[in-house]
Amino acid sequence: MVVLEIKDLHVSIGDKEILKGVNLKTGPGEVHAIMGPNGSGKSTLAYTLLAHPKYKVTKGDILLDGESILELTADKRAKKGLFLAFQYPTEVSGVGFSHFLRTAYNSLSKAMDGDDREVFITVREFQKYLKENIAKVGLREEFLSRYLNEGFSGGEKKRAEVLQMAVLKPKVSILDEPDSGLDIDAVQSVAKAISNVSTTDATVIIITHYARILKFLDKLDYVHVFAQGKVIQTGDASLADKLEAEGYEWALEKAA
Ligand code: ADP
Ligand code: MG
Repeated sequence: MVVLEIKDLHVSIGDKEILKGVNLKTGPGEVHAIMGPNGSGKSTLAYTLLAHPKYKVTKGDILLDGESILELTADKRAKKGLFLAFQYPTEVSGVGFSHFLRTAYNSLSKAMDGDDREVFITVREFQKYLKENIAKVGLREEFLSRYLNEGFSGGEKKRAEVLQMAVLKPKVSILDEPDSGLDIDAVQSVAKAISNVSTTDATVIIITHYARILKFLDKLDYVHVFAQGKVIQTGDASLADKLEAEGYEWALEKAA
């Protein structure tokens, strides 16, 4: 079964082609890593999946559960179950973290009539649901009463993004460099959080430059080497070790 399928995707920013024929397929319960050098187009791929207006698809297709989502706006794609965790989560003073999560949850639930997802009516029920989930990402309950990301450390911001994943239960989660700027303990905490909220029916895609976060995951099914705007090689978890040991040079030579 295929959840997400990216077919020969070409994307431009202005006149510059950044993605040059990306192909990728993911199935339910699979964890994928996309690894590549800086500037290779990894974030471009992430933003394109979520329909950021800056990125123009010139060729190819993106299918979710077999249906093209190319014509859908970002919020419609979110309602269909796509989620993007940003590389640099923003601090939003004045917006309570739990209020933010409840608003996001409700806006997705409304679109899911007929779905088996429960719709929470009361704040109290939602608080209970949040408390069950916050434990999975290793944040203390007091974070829920703070403003979104305000004063959170780098690692706490990333775990707050993973909490959104746990609460919203997307079909496909894309995490853009969830390890960037973190020390090794924080990287391990974020990896644990990702593993704890992963489910058997959803796909997780972790975009990263370094192999270190991947070692802390409970499971990793596929590693894709991304260079010069496309996937140039796919392998199992051992490919991440090869990239760590040998760098991206050999991959780039292959792509040239
Ligand atoms: P990665 O996430 O792999 O580091 P990006 O997707 O951020 O790569 O960038 C890919 C390429 O797109 C880079 O060459 C970058 O300079 C270029 N790029 C990104 N944003 C813009 C922009 N707004 N205008 C022009 N080029 C851009
Ligand atoms: Mg990037």
